Amino acid sequence: MRLQTALRQGSEILASAGIPEPRLTAEVLLCHALRRERAWLYAHPEHELTTVEWIHYGRYLHERLQGRPVQYITRKQEFYGREFEVTPAVLIPRPETEHVVEQALKAARGARRVLDICTGSGNLAVTLALELGAAAVGTDISFAALEVARRNARRHGARVEWVQCDLASGLSGRFDLIVSNPPYIPLEEIARLQREVRDYEPRLALEGGPGGAAFYPRIVREAERLLAPGGWLIVEIGYQGEQAARCAFGPAWTDAATEYDLAGWPRVVRARFAP
Ligand code: GLN
Repeated sequence: MRLQTALRQGSEILASAGIPEPRLTAEVLLCHALRRERAWLYAHPEHELTTVEWIHYGRYLHERLQGRPVQYITRKQEFYGREFEVTPAVLIPRPETEHVVEQALKAARGARRVLDICTGSGNLAVTLALELGAAAVGTDISFAALEVARRNARRHGARVEWVQCDLASGLSGRFDLIVSNPPYIPLEEIARLQREVRDYEPRLALEGGPGGAAFYPRIVREAERLLAPGGWLIVEIGYQGEQAARCAFGPAWTDAATEYDLAGWPRVVRARFAP
């Protein structure tokens, strides 16, 4: 079968199953099957797929049709300009989370020691270690997630130490900046999530208890123990999470502010530790 035919048929199958962006998805899956970049597809529409390429492509289409996110098929996702390995053990990094990086670069440029709580793929820890030239620590309760994070740090040459613990319970020492994108989907909303998220991404990385704000008071308490005076805590929140997250900050905090994402939803809350 010719490449252009494979692409057309693939996108038709995806479209008729209601998969969003069928053409783009077919291209990405075909690239993965061919182990080529997208530009190569456009330059070689006449390429005849080998049997192995065709079998791989068919399998990837089948997986996507069943609901598996593209990123778990290709095992990669771009974040803040770098490619990160992702597996079903970690949340797929979202573009919205880049707002956490932006806030960190704005508020805490001089941070030398950075902590990322609930690191998942390590996207925040690795990005901040590199962008700030800082020493970072990333924690996660999942050992399988930390293995992915460790590979991502090695791949990008980032200085990060990984600790398996519940939030930051295993840590001591002083940090200048703490970031976290904790699980924040309200328990009540999990069943209504799109199947790509609900059935494939780790529940542990998604669910933030009834109301979705279970982790913020605990993270704030850990930050009060671990931040140097004047240090920043920057957390991501869900679209209904602003109130609960802001309430978690007590009198030891100043300069509390909320930042909005491109869609206009509150997305990041930051505050400065001033004991
Ligand atoms: N830190 C990762 C991210 O921002 C994972 C977050 C999580 O697992 N809740 O994508």
